[in-house]
Amino acid sequence: MTGLPFPSVRDHPATPQGLVGLPDQFGRVARDLRVSVTDRCNLRCRYCMPAEGLPWLAKPEMLTDDELVRIVAVFVGLGVQQVRLTGGEPLLRRSLVDVVGRIAALRPRPRIAMTTNGVGLDRLAAPLAQAGLDRVNVSLDTIDPQEFADLTRRDRLHDVESGLKAAAAAGLTPVKVNAVAMRGINDHSVAELLQWCLDRDYELRFIEQMPLDAQHGWDASTMISAGEVRTRLEEHFTLTPLPAADRGSAPAERFLVNGGPQTVGIIASVTAPFCAACDRTRLTADGQVRNCLFSRVETDLRGPLRDGASDEDLAALIQGEMWRKARGHGIGTEDFVQPDRPMSAIGG
Ligand code: SAM
Ligand code: SF4
Repeated sequence: MTGLPFPSVRDHPATPQGLVGLPDQFGRVARDLRVSVTDRCNLRCRYCMPAEGLPWLAKPEMLTDDELVRIVAVFVGLGVQQVRLTGGEPLLRRSLVDVVGRIAALRPRPRIAMTTNGVGLDRLAAPLAQAGLDRVNVSLDTIDPQEFADLTRRDRLHDVESGLKAAAAAGLTPVKVNAVAMRGINDHSVAELLQWCLDRDYELRFIEQMPLDAQHGWDASTMISAGEVRTRLEEHFTLTPLPAADRGSAPAERFLVNGGPQTVGIIASVTAPFCAACDRTRLTADGQVRNCLFSRVETDLRGPLRDGASDEDLAALIQGEMWRKARGHGIGTEDFVQPDRPMSAIGG
């Protein structure tokens, strides 16, 4: 340690000395790092951001490639085994292929995944796979063009379909599709989306809408719950739950569809939170470490890094942030307060 007076070290006075890896006070260990490589986006999904977009980060506020890769390397040194690139829309970062290549060159090499809306993936899937990307999750909430345009406020369904095809062709398999069902928009077409994914061998996972939209418009009473999605799917398919033991820290409850082998996942992030098994940690595009999507605090790494912090200094800051991770997100309790940063700025 250099002993530089970083304010965030003083924020974590209770962090024990001599920690190894990224444990928290409740015994969980973070091994899955989500990196937001940009907060910008080319879609405007209703559950995420307003029609006019958001005040994006200015370039000097964002981590440079060198800074980003250096911080990821510190995380890998702390035991991170999987790095997921997200955003905002990660494909909008021009240097993305290079960043993937540099993360793939780290040792031990982490698995590298990406969550994307798929726009532009037709062009980038092959170079990304070549650079070392292992897996991709493409967000697609409906295959009805009108519903897609209504939900994302952009007419880009065709680009997403081409992106998915390119991902499969590039070997980024199994290609996963993430969907959020919104009442009155796409909730009636969830079975249609599943059939479409089964026909193409994409693995579909539904996720409950969470209170992370920039507009603070989330409403528990209108949210489509995991139970409701399951009921709607069961009107058309036989779903057989896979044993919970197969899940590990993965949040999705998985079901064999019509006896298998294809599956569908349903993530009850709000109604049955998986906080007790959470192994995630997050880095924002402006260099803040967050121990949870719903955390209302974060630890700045960019300032210390630009002020000359060593890798050991950065590691200690990350460990302090993770140690104070709360037991659960508390959505639905009186104490819950939605974080100021929206999902697109945290990295979903
Ligand atoms: N732009 C990329 C995309 O859409 O895949 C990556 C960032 S996006 C924030 C990551 C994931 O978060 C997407 O699958 C998206 O559907 C999901 N998401 C965004 N807002 C959400 C919300 N309020 N509740 C649940 N999921 C949300
Ligand atoms: Fe963009 Fe992804 Fe948010 Fe949709 S969910 S607006 S694609 S960041």
